[in-house]
Amino acid sequence: MARTVGVLGGGQLGRMLAEAANLLEIKVIFLDAGDFSPAKQVANHRDHIDGSFKDAAAVKKLAARSDVVTIEIEHVNTETLEQISSEGADVQPHWRTIRTIQDKYLQKGHLHSHNVATAESVPLDASVQDLEQASEKLGLPFMLKSRKDAYDGKGNFPVKSKDDFKLALDALSNKDLYAERWANFKMELAVMVVKTKDQVLSFPTVETIHENSVCKLTYAPARGVSAAINEEAQELARKAVACFEGKGVFGVEMFLLEDDTLLVNEIAPRPHNSGHYTIEACPVSQYEAHLRAVLDLPLFAEDLQLREPAIMLNILGGDSPDSHTQFAAEALKHRRTKVHLYGKGSAKKGRKMGHITVTAPTMSEAESLIQPMINYADKDKP
Ligand code: ATP
Ligand code: MG
Ligand code: MG
Repeated sequence: MARTVGVLGGGQLGRMLAEAANLLEIKVIFLDAGDFSPAKQVANHRDHIDGSFKDAAAVKKLAARSDVVTIEIEHVNTETLEQISSEGADVQPHWRTIRTIQDKYLQKGHLHSHNVATAESVPLDASVQDLEQASEKLGLPFMLKSRKDAYDGKGNFPVKSKDDFKLALDALSNKDLYAERWANFKMELAVMVVKTKDQVLSFPTVETIHENSVCKLTYAPARGVSAAINEEAQELARKAVACFEGKGVFGVEMFLLEDDTLLVNEIAPRPHNSGHYTIEACPVSQYEAHLRAVLDLPLFAEDLQLREPAIMLNILGGDSPDSHTQFAAEALKHRRTKVHLYGKGSAKKGRKMGHITVTAPTMSEAESLIQPMINYADKDKP
């Protein structure tokens, strides 16, 4: 059964993928800088590659050592993935999927052409006149977005009035941009979807709460959302993923508008922060599901259901280098609280250093259990 999986990138998503792989004796080889990245720390063998996941020679070396090549970050060189695929490497998901998704404007066009609802998007050159035209088409506010390399809201600029045009272009200079209609959402939802060789399955619909454009909390299932909308969001997420080629897990971020309409915000072609809760809350986690999908191992829809409600809280770096280990020590004092630290060393302000997951028989019990940790995370907020 065991085959070798090669991964571009070696951060916390790779680390949790390796933790799932270890239980099945699946060997995972990581390509990233250094010998002690979060993922390499938990997968002990001599075949890891020290290099950049954007370096063609290093990617080829990884492919030569692996049965399947996959990613834990989408900002990779898809020309290289295209080349190794043409030489026989099994790249999952398909390089075309990664190429389309890594450019948010192309991603939205692709979804639109498959009748998946997204916020209206218009292409732009970086000029004030172009922003004028975008604002005529989309109204104000609108969101100016970088097409590529975006994460944690870096790459987005909310344009609220004409006075922001210049500011926005300065903030996102040297980037290919596009503009997106403002989504007046009442809630942000996310669904992890698993695409296997012959099925498209989904985990439940979760509620995500962002602070300063960084995911802070995930509630599974989404609170105050009807069973019908929970199901509709899963259907939309499955439809969105079904229009891409290849196998693996995909994180689908959505907006729930005031009138209960759902729009897809963006798709990640890999395990996702909003799916960490699955480690404790579901029989098969998003990481194990990814391995099963790319390796054609059995996967059952039933195993993606929630065992009990769960809440995930990210541990972000604070002011001191050990802020995350202090957070973890605090979290350990609370029952039903699972702590995950990522092995990143000293904390940097705002960096994802770990997370905690609380599961309980009811959502309200999970909410009361996690509240002291939310208070702790917020203690230095002005
Ligand atoms: P991630 O870390 O999820 O990859 P990202 O940098 O790719 O983030 P987006 O997901 O595009 O950024 O946007 C970040 C957040 O900004 C969204 O979760 C949402 O809160 C807000 N946002 C994005 N697009 C819009 C929009 N069109 N209208 C209103 N708010 C938006
Ligand atoms: Mg993104
Ligand atoms: Mg996002």
